[in-house]
Amino acid sequence: MPARKLFVAGNWKMNPANVEAARALAAGVRDGVGTSAEVEVALGCPAVYLSAVSEVLSDSPIGLGGQNMYWAKDGAYTGEISASMLLDQGCTHVILGHSERRHGMGETDEQVNKKLKAALEAGLYPIVCLGETLEERESDRTEAVVAAQLQGSLAGLTPEEMNKVVLAYEPVWAIGTGKTASPEQAQAVHAFIRKKLGEAFGEKTAGLVKIQYGGSVKPDNALELLSCPDIDGALVGGACLKAADFLAIIEAGKKASASK
Ligand code: PEP
Repeated sequence: MPARKLFVAGNWKMNPANVEAARALAAGVRDGVGTSAEVEVALGCPAVYLSAVSEVLSDSPIGLGGQNMYWAKDGAYTGEISASMLLDQGCTHVILGHSERRHGMGETDEQVNKKLKAALEAGLYPIVCLGETLEERESDRTEAVVAAQLQGSLAGLTPEEMNKVVLAYEPVWAIGTGKTASPEQAQAVHAFIRKKLGEAFGEKTAGLVKIQYGGSVKPDNALELLSCPDIDGALVGGACLKAADFLAIIEAGKKASASK
C-alpha cells in the first residue's frame, strides 16, 4: 500500500439528464466497488441529485461530493449552496475551483480560498483544482501559474488543515478534450506542487497531501498515470459517466497501488 492511498473521484458535471439516470449510474459504481477499500472513491454530483445519490450510496464506502459551494453560512445569496447544506445532503467532499468555474465563470483564487476555509470549518473534505491553460503551457508559464494558484487558493491554511485537502492538477487543455498530459508531463507538475507544499506547509504535510491528476483520464491511460510516484489518484470527468469505464479506472488504481 502506498503512503498515500489512491483516490479516484468522478465529476459528473451537469450530467446525467434526470434523477433516475443519476440513481442508476451511482448504483452501477456502488455495485462494482462493493466493500473494497483499496482505493478511495467519491462521486461529485449535481446538487439536485445529492440526496438521491446519497441514498443509493448508503452502506457503501464511496464518498459523495458537491461540485461547488458558497462560503457564507446562510443568508441572501440567491442560487448558492452552503457547506452545511452539502453535509445535510450526505456529502463528505466538495470540488472547489474547477477550471470550468475558474475559466467559465470567473472564479478567482481568493474566492476558492474563502470556499476552502468554509468547507474545512464545516467538516467537508475539499478537492481543490488547479492547472494551466494551453497558452500558459506553451509560453512556459506552467510552474508560475500553478504556484500562484497554490499560494492564492491555500492562503492562511495551517498544516493540519492542509492535511485534509486533496489537490487536483488538471491542465485546462486536457479537460474534456481527449488530450491527456503524458505521464512525464503530469508527474513533473505533481512533483513541483509537492515541492511547493513542502515550502509552505513542511515536508510532513507535503508527503501526506494527495494530488489527483485530471484531464481526459480513461481506462486505457489510467494505469500509466496512476503509477507515477507523485500522482495519487484521478479526478475523472467524461469517463465517469459510464459505470464500467469509471470502474475500470478504479481497477487501474488498485493495480497501481500494488506497485507503489
Ligand atoms: C474534470 O471534469 O475534472 C475532467 C478532468 O474532465 P475530463 O476527464 O472529461 O477531461
